[in-house]
Amino acid sequence: MAWDARQRAMLAEMGFRLPAASQAGVAEPEAEVEPDPIVVAAPPPAVVRVSAPMPAAAPAAAPRPVIAASFAGLDLPALREAVSACRGCGLCAQRRHAVFGGGALQRAQWLVVTDPVDDADDAAGEVLGGEAGRLLDRMLLAAGQSRTGEAATAFVTPIVKCRPPRGRPPQPAELDACEVVLARQVELLQPRVVLALGLQAARRLTGLAEPLGRLRGRVHSWRELPLVVTYHPAYLLRSPADKAGAWDDLCLARRTLQTP
Ligand code: SF4
Repeated sequence: MAWDARQRAMLAEMGFRLPAASQAGVAEPEAEVEPDPIVVAAPPPAVVRVSAPMPAAAPAAAPRPVIAASFAGLDLPALREAVSACRGCGLCAQRRHAVFGGGALQRAQWLVVTDPVDDADDAAGEVLGGEAGRLLDRMLLAAGQSRTGEAATAFVTPIVKCRPPRGRPPQPAELDACEVVLARQVELLQPRVVLALGLQAARRLTGLAEPLGRLRGRVHSWRELPLVVTYHPAYLLRSPADKAGAWDDLCLARRTLQTP
């Protein structure tokens, strides 16, 4: 797929580098590897929907009824308020803030589900507020999405809203408890595609205990929505060579919107 003039201009503005042949509208076989911001590879091949069944290890525990009942029927502002006081699992004990996430004010095209927040975001009460967040914003913008402003089209939220102690992975019971919040966010935002950022979010949403590299590059299904997996932006800051792969993933997510 070749980029149109508007996309090329936008990508150039964001500091992305398009291979020369791609600028001329010719499909590129390889990404041009550059050391800074994001290297834009040619868009990935046609979307392949994966219909592999969920393994036995997939989370199956029912959410706690008291939590489900307390969130049902809430609109987005009321849900945010309820989550700030949630005690649905043990993660509430050490959090400084429950991080609800942010972005689109009503419906969202993209729902971006991240690994649990880091210490700084726990303190600030926001998801991806630092340098990693700025990288995510550039990635989203280049893919035609935004999580800021009145016209935001994406909503970004952590897989569990409270940071696990010392940054440990969330336990299955904690993931089960907090999925009730995520489920209500999906009901309200009605996204068309879900993007999982990071290994913990990817494994939870796919139900597959595989390395991230094996979960990328294909379209999974979660709650009957197309789900694409990619690297967490904090990882990309440490491993810029993988930005080209992340860009491929964003292109794949975007292509799902164009697939009937
Ligand atoms: S992690 Fe989720 S379910 Fe657990 S206390 Fe926080 S908001 Fe509630």
